[in-house]
Amino acid sequence: MGWQKRGSGKKYDSMSGVGVAIGNETGKVLEREIRSKNCRTCSYWEGKGVEAAHHDCPRNWYGTSKGMEPDVGVSFIKKIEEKNCTVSTLIMHDDATTMSKIRQNIDHDITKWSDIKHVQNSLEFKKKKLDKKRLAINENNVLEIREGDTYKTEIDMLCQNMQETDVISNPLVVEELNPVQNIQTSIPCVYFDLETTSLSLNYDIVQISAVNDIHVFDQYITPSSGISKYASEYPELKSHKQEVLVSTFLKKNYSAHNASADVQMLKELVEFTKCSITELSPYSFTTTSCALCLKQNMVSKTRLVTLKPLTERSVISTAMAKKI
Ligand SMILES: [Zn+2]
Repeated sequence: MGWQKRGSGKKYDSMSGVGVAIGNETGKVLEREIRSKNCRTCSYWEGKGVEAAHHDCPRNWYGTSKGMEPDVGVSFIKKIEEKNCTVSTLIMHDDATTMSKIRQNIDHDITKWSDIKHVQNSLEFKKKKLDKKRLAINENNVLEIREGDTYKTEIDMLCQNMQETDVISNPLVVEELNPVQNIQTSIPCVYFDLETTSLSLNYDIVQISAVNDIHVFDQYITPSSGISKYASEYPELKSHKQEVLVSTFLKKNYSAHNASADVQMLKELVEFTKCSITELSPYSFTTTSCALCLKQNMVSKTRLVTLKPLTERSVISTAMAKKI
């Protein structure tokens, strides 16, 4: 049987089909029949609510499209047997409905052979369909991992039993150190320095020192963690180290990496350069902006932990996670 439209496996809604019976020995066409659910003339007049005048009407089928094939099969056998021939063997594809209808309507035994070509084609078609489905499932799985639970199939049906999805917070505002505005020449200058357990932002302050023209402040703090290898073994990572600058310009040696001595020397160095307060202004920062930067750093670190499942499975890179 040939169809105007191929059945999808679930849906058979072709408007017409043509059946052909071919002799296995001769290869010649024995019978042909058409089943059609459609007629343009009838449809036109039906649309107007008027009965169509007599016409050469192709519509000869009012049942389902799937029912066309069994009907054609029975009709073929009856027509052939009217010509005093007996149909003993049928070679056709595996269609249980057609075979059952033939056995109900024909009163002698008929052997059924499966058409190998048809079976092969049908198997190939099914395999292709399965491969396509598998590919679609794989693609969907990738999306589900990337997009999370909300991308799952039928999420709207499942969501009654699902825990409420957490709301993703807005991206962090990147804080910057703001220099002091409208700096005055009369502003008192405080030189300060910190000694920390490491060079990363995850440090403890161990010493804080500050000097101005009148006072000296120096305080040691017990750290909560040990001093890192970098801080203890390689404290002079940056070029233009203060120690070098001091020995070059001030011709002095001092106890570097003691915050108190550091700030004292820093004050002397700045005074030696004779920089005006306005020249120093771009290198200043407000305490508020510094506090905001530190706060942002802490929040960012907490949020990074929540993205760990994605970075661990290489769904996103660590750099991307940091941006998020
Ligand atoms: Zn018609």
